[in-house]
Formats: sequence, structure tokens, C-alpha cells
Amino acid sequence: MGRLVIASNRVGSSLSANDGGLATALLAALDRRDVVWFGWSGEIVDEPPGPTRLQRDGNLLQALVDLERSDYSGYYLEFANRVLWPVFHYRVNLAEYGREQWATYGRVNEMFAERLASVLQPDDFVWIHDYHMIPMGAALRRLGVDNPLGFFLHIPFPAPEVLTTLPVHEALVRSLFAYDLVGFQTGNDLQAFQDYVEREAGGQTGDDGTIRAYGTSVRAARFPISIDPRVVAARAVRAASTRQATRLRDSVSGRRLIIGVDRLDYTKGLVHRLDAVERLLETRPQHRRGVVVLQIAPPSREDVPEYRQIRAELDARIGRINGRFAEPDQLPLRYVNRRFRQETLFGFYRASRVALVTPLRDGMNLVAKEFVASQDPEDPGVLILSRFAGAARELDTALIINPFDVDQIVDALDQALGMPVEERRARWEAMMSWLQEHDVHVWRASFLKALQQPESKLPGTPTVPPARWTRHGALSSA
Ligand code: ADP
Repeated sequence: MGRLVIASNRVGSSLSANDGGLATALLAALDRRDVVWFGWSGEIVDEPPGPTRLQRDGNLLQALVDLERSDYSGYYLEFANRVLWPVFHYRVNLAEYGREQWATYGRVNEMFAERLASVLQPDDFVWIHDYHMIPMGAALRRLGVDNPLGFFLHIPFPAPEVLTTLPVHEALVRSLFAYDLVGFQTGNDLQAFQDYVEREAGGQTGDDGTIRAYGTSVRAARFPISIDPRVVAARAVRAASTRQATRLRDSVSGRRLIIGVDRLDYTKGLVHRLDAVERLLETRPQHRRGVVVLQIAPPSREDVPEYRQIRAELDARIGRINGRFAEPDQLPLRYVNRRFRQETLFGFYRASRVALVTPLRDGMNLVAKEFVASQDPEDPGVLILSRFAGAARELDTALIINPFDVDQIVDALDQALGMPVEERRARWEAMMSWLQEHDVHVWRASFLKALQQPESKLPGTPTVPPARWTRHGALSSA
């Protein structure tokens, strides 16, 4: 079997599985096959970058490229993170489009393609990841590469009305047709892609998942990314007896812990979430002495202005809430701006009664899945989950909320805090057994099968919410 060649902006290493969802999921997916992982080294240089660095890391060969400062700025900070990220997360008003940044984005992708082409072998399968590298497949084809090329989008694919606000939407979507296979997180994202192609390009979707447009075709399907719930569960059990988890539990002493863990990003719904916490303490005084909220939010992308802004906004809210509701002997809200070892987080999840996962828009949200897998089966916590996280399509017995509806989050918190253990178990068991059947290994294997066997049937494409999904995620009798 040929090698698997992964390309993504940041290259994972077996040492730091803390680079966000992508690295975590792909590292969990490594098997005994030879893997090459190509991408940016994380280094910014002031001269034209030197040759690609090849580094062995166990059964992983990393191929790393430095970026020149101006390229880093135009490609990464500007086009990827200030244009594609907000538009694809439905925040069109935050997008700062410029032709120059688009040109740099294209040029860096051409450079990546040239570097990757020079290490490719004829029987390699290439799997390119995420919004930083959308046009890389087309650049590889222009260089004459005819290996099977797959692309997976980790973030949402926006509805056509939203995507068309991006001046270069056509070039971007057209470039996806250079791939043999394009994968999305959910049926919603796939549907949005099909809608765009049908409406904007006069294309057609076949029953077998083949989409025809621009005089060519591409296979597209949904492949919801996941975790390894067995590994997470085992690590959570281990972490629960460490000093850090014990100290957290002791400090909460008798109260119930509500946890939130997110990169500090405007898509994560942190402002609405804090408003819900404030309203809970204000309108349901019975909880004032009964709960502790722990929000862990390591800063990210601090060289992008919108990220500095959201940080300042959160700082102000947190000060206000604690000022209003703290007592000399207790602080209702703990706010921690740092990273932890993942295992430590799993121990914290296990110590929590409720998790607040309330993004305004999220491709999947692996924190939601990790929280579920970390729970004690006898006494599991309750997941409050935004309907706009990809994970809500699968974890349908969580308390599903609309993150823009602060009162609904307050109601869900109240419901979660009062939920009897039998109901907590029933909801948790449904989610855990789903995760066990649809883990990260299934994700990787089903994508690679679809890439390597072009004749194989693509995974199904449901576009309606699961039947059990009712308001607040209440279990229906079905
Ligand atoms: P995103 O990829 O947008 O950051 P996800 O929820 O899909 O969001 O993935 C986040 C990943 O990063 C999870 O695997 C989570 O465990 C990890 N993570 C989040 N916050 C922290 C933190 N403070 N320290 C370490 N890892 C974190």
C-alpha cells in the first residue's frame, strides 16, 4: 500500500497533541502505515525560506517548510484567519478581504504544492486538510501530480448566501474540483456545498455523491471527525486521581462544577455563555452558593485584532460577574487563560457536573466529545451543547440549545443542575455508545477507503436532524 501523505498548515508531532482538533484527531489516527506529514514548520523567517526539512518522529516523517514574514502575514494571519475563518463561521461582518492577501494565499499554496510534489512518490495517497490549503490540490494538478488527492474541511461550509459575500468564492469552490474526494464534517456542510454548486455553478449532484460542475466532477461526503473514546475514558480515570484533579475537587467542596474549555475565539460563544452565567446567578439565587463555574480559555491568534478584542470583552465581563456575586469566602467564576495537558483536562471534565459547549458556529467541537468520554458511567455529568456545533448532529441526547438565546442556556443550566442520576445516565449512555461506534479510527478509515477505492459507496448524507432531537434535547419516546 502506498504511503499516506498528510498536508496541513500545522504539522502534528507525537509530543504535543495540543494544537487543536486537527492534530489531536490525526495523531490518534496514525497506524502502522508509513505516514508523511507536510506543512508549515511554525518558523517565520526574514529571508526566502531554506529547503524543506525532513524529520523522523517514530513512524511519522515530517516535512517542514518555513514561511517568510510577509507570506505568513498575507496567507495565515490575513487571508486564512481574517477572511476565510470568519466567513466560513458565518461572521461576514468580521471579514477583512483584500486582493493582495488573496494573491499571497494563492502563492503560498503554489509554493507548498511545489515542495510537496518534490517529496511525493507515485503510489502515495495525499490527504490535504482545512481552509488554509483549499487551493493546494489544484496547484498540485497544475504541476502534473496525478496521485489520488483528498481534502477534508474541518470548519463549517457556509450556506451559499454567506459564501458569496467572499469576492473570490468562485475560484475557491472551483479549486475543490481538483480533488478526487472532498469531505465535510456534517450533512449540513455537505448540503451547503451542493446548494452552492447547484445554484452558482449550475452543477448537479448524483445519487452516488458525485457532484458535477465546471466541466468536471468531485466525490463529496460527510465524515464527522471524532476522538478515541476508550483512550479518553482511560486517561480520564487516571487523571481523576492526580493532584491537580484532587485539588480542583477539594476546592469546589460540596458545590457543583460547571466547566467550559475553549480556545479564546469569537466563534465559541463565550460572551453569550458568560451572560447566561450572570443571569443564572441573578435570577436563580438558589444556585449562588451551589455552583462554581470554571472557564478555561487559552488565548489564540493574538496577532489578529478581533482576538485581542474578544479577550478584552471577556475580561470586562468576568470582572463584573465576580464583582457582583463573589462573597468573601467564594468566587463564582474562575477564569484560566492557559493550556493544560489534555489528560489533565479529562480529569477536570470528570470532576464536573455540567459542561457548557455553546459555540455560535463550530465545524465539530471535540471538547464536547471528550467531555462525554471522560465521564464516570455511574455518575455522569450533563452536556449542554449548541445546535450550531457539528457535534450536535451526533450527540443528540445532550441538552441542545441555541447559543444566541441566553435564557435558554439559563434554563438548560437549571435543568442540568437538577437532573436525576437515572436521566443523566440514560442521556450519557446514548452518547457514549454512539462515540464508541463512530470513533476517530472510523473517521480516518472511512475517508481513506473512499479515497483509495473510488468505486466504493460513500457514507450516507442525512441532512435533517436525528429523529430524537427535540427542544432542549429531551429524550423522546421514539
Ligand atoms: P478547535 O479546533 O476550534 O480549537 P475543538 O473543540 O474541535 O476546537 O478542539 C480543541 C482541542 O484542543 C480539543 O482536543 C481540546 O482538548 C484541546 N484543548 C482545548 N483547550 C485546551 C487547553 N486549555 N489546553 C489544552 N488543550 C486544549
